[in-house]
Amino acid sequence: MSQDSIAYVAIGSNIAPFRQITRCLDLLHGIPASGVCAESSWYRTRPWGIETQPDFINLVVGLRTRLSPLGLLRETQGIEVKLKRRRGPKNGPRTIDLDILLFDQLILKESHLQVPHPGLLLRDFMLTPLIEIAPDAVHPEHGLPVSQLAGEIRYRQIIDRSPPAAARDH
Ligand code: AMP
Repeated sequence: MSQDSIAYVAIGSNIAPFRQITRCLDLLHGIPASGVCAESSWYRTRPWGIETQPDFINLVVGLRTRLSPLGLLRETQGIEVKLKRRRGPKNGPRTIDLDILLFDQLILKESHLQVPHPGLLLRDFMLTPLIEIAPDAVHPEHGLPVSQLAGEIRYRQIIDRSPPAAARDH
């Protein structure tokens, strides 16, 4: 039997985020040949790009999986479709956004899949929750644990770390 891989997936939402993220976590638990093994706190973050939209909720989950990277991408994109993600303006409001941050120590530069995710080190809302759940995960391009790479952050959007109940939709 092939060995499990460990992948880290970032989740973000700013349209009914409490409901969307709760459903998204349920769907992530249902991905075949996989299991959620870690879940970060929920972070309230300022929108980036278009600043007149609601704040986001962001978090990162760890998954053990026997899927390939592309197989996992197909599953996360299926979840985006199920949660009715519509492609609006770049960096605009979104019901759900799923990004694969790391997949074992793989480096992939395909047009449809880049891992490590190119935004991982630049965005505090991706790197900070990852460091929270997996400080020792090694970034394969830097050869260092992610906990030692916080100095690379360029965009600081996190407002606070809020328990899920505090993020409840109004
Ligand atoms: P976005 O609008 O940011 O969700 O980007 C979606 C597109 O990014 C899709 O076409 C994916 O194929 C592509 N993509 C490239 N690398 C990744 C990744 N690491 N995780 C998720 N989507 C990715």
